[in-house]
Amino acid sequence: MTAQLIDGNALSRQLRGEVRERTSALKSRGITPGLAVVLVGDNPASQVYVRNKVLACEDVGFHSVLEKYDASLTEGELLARIEALNNDPAIHGILVQLPLPAHIDDHKVIEAISPAKDVDGFHVASAGALLVGEAGFKACTPYGCMKMLESIGMKDLRGKHAVVIGRSNIVGKPMALMLLAANATVTVCHSGTQDLGAMTRQADVVVAAVGKRNVLTADMVKPGAVVIDVGMNRNDDGKLCGDVDFNGVSRVAGWITPVPGGVGPMTITMLLVNTLEAAERLAAAQA
Ligand code: NAP
Repeated sequence: MTAQLIDGNALSRQLRGEVRERTSALKSRGITPGLAVVLVGDNPASQVYVRNKVLACEDVGFHSVLEKYDASLTEGELLARIEALNNDPAIHGILVQLPLPAHIDDHKVIEAISPAKDVDGFHVASAGALLVGEAGFKACTPYGCMKMLESIGMKDLRGKHAVVIGRSNIVGKPMALMLLAANATVTVCHSGTQDLGAMTRQADVVVAAVGKRNVLTADMVKPGAVVIDVGMNRNDDGKLCGDVDFNGVSRVAGWITPVPGGVGPMTITMLLVNTLEAAERLAAAQA
């Protein structure tokens, strides 16, 4: 079998087109969705991520603000900026790029963001909303993975077994909850899982979110399974690669996401969707 590609760039283009249209509709009512991106320090990867996020905002017609601070910014100063953005009516979404410098408590900063502007979906209120099935902002990466499944006709996963590798708060755990909400039977694996292959070979859908190359190889995949690769690693040549042995697994799987061009662009797209929704919710509340 040769797997079909789930193209994150193509799906992103389609979804961003829809965001652009809804943004125009909102603008005609006098509201421009606004995203504030806050970067502290000079982590090179973070600088690339925030630049891509701001460019994506411009592309769909959002107002965007990039606030860059020196690594010496104090926690108190950052919390004061978050408070100001919470109260800024032109800003509907706030994103603080992680990781923050070691002297700043990530959790305290995320919890300072108003849940109404938590477009990254990392606030405890957003995580809780996902847990109990209420409306809230969904974490962008797993939300993008769900959209990829939807794009291949797998919106409802009743009767399917999904295996998530990784249990982080930003990817693995919310991914498992979203799959569960879509009626999948879900298994979550992590570094304490004894026989990962025994788990993944049962899966109709595998999501790999580990951060290690070749965590998933062809012998670990059921023929025809859907494989979503969240991982971002570098290979020996310094090129971006995922957690999945793409060449081997694509000969067994039914569908597979590439790296790059898979989950990465979808993450930014879902950030745009969440920011638009934040602005639309405000507009609805004001109507
Ligand atoms: P993380 O916080 O480091 O979590 C990694 C998870 O993998 C942990 O739960 C860990 O288990 C588990 N793990 C480690 N080794 C394992 C093994 N050998 N077998 C099974 N599980 C293992 O990472 P993250 O933030 O979730 O990110 C995961 C990857 O996705 C990274 O490569 C990251 O760069 C990438 N990522 C990509 C995007 C995107 O937009 N494409 C967005 C976010 C993250 P324990 O909990 O037991 O330690």
